[in-house]
Formats: sequence, structure tokens, C-alpha cells
Amino acid sequence: MKLEGIHHITAITENAQRNVDFYAGVMGLRLVKKTVNQDSPTVYHLFFADEEGDPGADLTFFEYPGAARGRAGEGMVHRIVWRVGAPESLDFWEGRLGAHGIETRRDGERLHFADPEGLDHELLVADVPDPPLIADHPEVPRELALQGFHAVRAYASAPEASSALLEALEFEPTEEGWEARGSERGGLYVFDPPPAERGVQGAGSVHHVAWASTIEEHMQWREKAISAGAHPTPEIDRFYFKSIYFREPSGVLFEIATLGPGFTVDEPLEHLGEKLSLPPDFEHLRDEVEPNLRPVVNPRAAQT
Ligand code: ZN
Repeated sequence: MKLEGIHHITAITENAQRNVDFYAGVMGLRLVKKTVNQDSPTVYHLFFADEEGDPGADLTFFEYPGAARGRAGEGMVHRIVWRVGAPESLDFWEGRLGAHGIETRRDGERLHFADPEGLDHELLVADVPDPPLIADHPEVPRELALQGFHAVRAYASAPEASSALLEALEFEPTEEGWEARGSERGGLYVFDPPPAERGVQGAGSVHHVAWASTIEEHMQWREKAISAGAHPTPEIDRFYFKSIYFREPSGVLFEIATLGPGFTVDEPLEHLGEKLSLPPDFEHLRDEVEPNLRPVVNPRAAQT
């Protein structure tokens, strides 16, 4: 029994429109769900992913309008590492990001940059057998597009404190970091020494990272986490998947989310993310929340 790599990564944005313009418009991801934060249903929860809305390429954002800029520090994920297919892809993104005013830094087979709110990303030419998870964008050739997550990097001053939990969750130590590799996909959890400054949760910072489980094994992962001293929540039905949450000993908020039912549970694949989706338990709030959400224009819809 193994976790199937990274399910999704959730971060915070101050501005949903600017966020959509960057991730759908520039990075070429597909906005696959526009819904509300189920723990705070007056604000958006946006999900970007590949064309099919698969776990493994799903970057999500809570919008907190007016939120101050955050800063990654001890106990926080500070970088999202994406796979790309070939070095030519790094050339392409260097040029494309530069043309959109985003500074990049090339380091061998890696390209670093930050989004407009300071969230740190790295594109990596990774040698893995996992099927690429690609979204369609008219300006991004498929062979150069993002292919899903490879890793998250977190700051920890004493990362050995996390070893027992990661071992209980069947992560394997590798040269690159701790790897969760299942039958379909793998993903890495990598520690770096923290900066001196304390972290601040805010716009442009990562809120949590979710690891993928089959639906059948979900509750067994909860038992494994408990056996290693973690304090997971009960299973929470997020409608698009089921989740448990707990903090790992280095301070990062972990989620374990199920591979399904997925984003087509309430909209057809061809129309994912076009309207505000509210899970059944939240539908009664529509008249209250929808008028108060700043409308978001999807650049992808505008092009077609
Ligand atoms: Zn989550």
C-alpha cells in the first residue's frame, strides 16, 4: 500500500482574477473548478489542473481579498516543483514567462520563478515513467507544457523529526527526498534548511499539500498516521474527494485525499470550471455568496 504521489497543493491568493490570469492564461493550466472554500464559504476556492482535472496536477487557491503577502518559513512548503518533458520546455517557459514580466532563473535542468504574489515554482526535466498530465492552451505546445507535480519543498530545521511519520505513511527515502510512489504516480517531499525569518501565512504562500490515496485505502492511511503519533481529522467529504488532515511533525499541514470521485461529479468534462459550483450541502448558500464574490473571467473561455 503506497500513496499515489501528490494529489493537490493548496495556496492562498489575494486576487482570484489575477490568479486565473496567471495560472490559466500564462501557465496554460485549465481552471477545472470554481467553487467556495468549504470551511469559509464566502470566499473562492479555485482549482487548476490538466485537461481532465486529474489529481497530480491540481493546484488550488483560496482567495482572501485584501490578504497581506505571506512568506514561507519554518514548517511551510516554500516551493512547488513541476515536471516538464525536455530542456526545450525550459527555454520555452523562460521566454514566455519573461514576456509576461516574470523573472526566471535557470539552473541546469531547472527553471525557477515566482508567481505574481511571490509563490515559488520550479520546472524540472524529470525522468519518471508517470503519464504526463497536460492541459490544452493555444499558446503552449503540448510537448512543452507542464506535466504535473514532481515535488514540494518545505523548510524544516530538524527534518528528522518527520521521519517516523513519513515512514509510517510508506514514503521511501531517496537521493532526491522522501518519495511516495504508488502504482500510477509518484511525488516527492523534500526538506530544506529554513531562512532566519519566521514564515507568514498569506497571499502567495502554500496552505497545505495533499497526498493521493485510493478510495478503498483512505481510512487505513488515517490509522497509519495515528500509529505514528499524528492527530488526523475524521474523514471529511469534500464532494470532489474525501479528505483527512493532520500536521506532520515539521509543521507542514498534510492532507490525504481520495482519487475520486473527481471534478466531473457535478459538471461535464467539457464545461469544467465555467460556473460557480457549489456542492449540494452548500447550494442553499448560492444566493448569499454568489453576489458577493468578485466575478472572475477565465482567459481560456474568452479565447474560444
Ligand atoms: Zn486540500
